[in-house]
Amino acid sequence: MDLERIRQEALDFGFTLAEPISISTIHLREEVREMCAVNKCHAYNTNWGCPPACGTVEECQERINRYETGLIVQTTGQLEDDFDYETMQETAKNHGKHFVDMLLHLRKEYPRLDILPLGTGACMTCKKCTYPDAPCRMPERMSSPMEGYGMVISDVCKDNGILYNHGRGTLTYVACFLFREVQKG
Ligand code: SF4
Repeated sequence: MDLERIRQEALDFGFTLAEPISISTIHLREEVREMCAVNKCHAYNTNWGCPPACGTVEECQERINRYETGLIVQTTGQLEDDFDYETMQETAKNHGKHFVDMLLHLRKEYPRLDILPLGTGACMTCKKCTYPDAPCRMPERMSSPMEGYGMVISDVCKDNGILYNHGRGTLTYVACFLFREVQKG
């Protein structure tokens, strides 16, 4: 697969950084998952992409290990001060849009790639998730949060030589896409 081309496309979609990561650097941790269960984000047990529906940490690690490579993507905003909520919201919104646009692009342009999209928060594709009453409405658009899987995002960035903190006054949202080639049809 042409990961460099995909990396460039991610930048074209508006991410401020896109860098390859090695699957072997991703070590999921129970402690991160336990923070999910505290449910500060109010998404725990409400969405097919989030715990517990996405599987145990062990199952998620097994799933991740089946992929060949990945790409970290970031959207960084520059805040005017610590109370610049407008830029905070705008950066989050932009990052969410970049993520969805990129995912739809990847699904369309790379049918021979199996893609695991891991976003910044719960899957927001539908106004109300069908969980747990009916199957996921759009599995092709579904994503799980990196932290929901048990990832320590700063560690994954550090272990791949990727900057996570871009300095004072910046706010960075992170997501990733994992890839493996499959023969279809
Ligand atoms: S695509 Fe819709 S139904 Fe599926 S996990 Fe996302 S919000 Fe839920």
